[in-house]
Amino acid sequence: MDRETLLRARQAIGELTPMLCDCGSLCGAACCAPDADGQGGVYLFPGEEALLAGCDWGRVVPDAFAPMLMCDDRCDRSRRPLACRIFPLTPVRGRNGLWTVRMDARARAMCPLAGHGLNGLDPRFLRAARDALRLIAEQPEGEAFLERWLALESEYRKPLWPEGEK
Ligand code: SF4
Ligand code: SF4
Repeated sequence: MDRETLLRARQAIGELTPMLCDCGSLCGAACCAPDADGQGGVYLFPGEEALLAGCDWGRVVPDAFAPMLMCDDRCDRSRRPLACRIFPLTPVRGRNGLWTVRMDARARAMCPLAGHGLNGLDPRFLRAARDALRLIAEQPEGEAFLERWLALESEYRKPLWPEGEK
């Protein structure tokens, strides 16, 4: 995806965060920390890897879904990837077919905001994240990536045990 679109999408969110205060102080910035196995990271949107040239706070590792940034230190916030900017939200298609946002099912495991739903978040952040994703969706490669992202995230919404197999 072209650099300009990525930068516009990132800029749409800018310094907005899920809450008016620093939510990282609630949880010790849990979404920036590796999981118990030392794994985990943040998926990069197509073309974002090139924007991380010279990154000295983490490393990009390959993953079957998309390249992943694994952070070892605090980042330069002005360069943080889109996935960090939208967290704990995730793209979804609304009833009108347009891209919008919902709480990411994967956030339940770590984010204290996840249980409060969208109403608990700053509305300006919600709008900005939605607008950023719509910018991404204007590009065919971006829209294809959002579809794949949605399919992956939707897997985490499925019950562990199908009905009647407990
Ligand atoms: S885990 Fe949730 S509450 Fe904590 S810093 Fe990330 S978005 Fe904010
Ligand atoms: S890039 Fe920054 S915001 Fe994103 S996971 Fe790494 S340290 Fe956290």
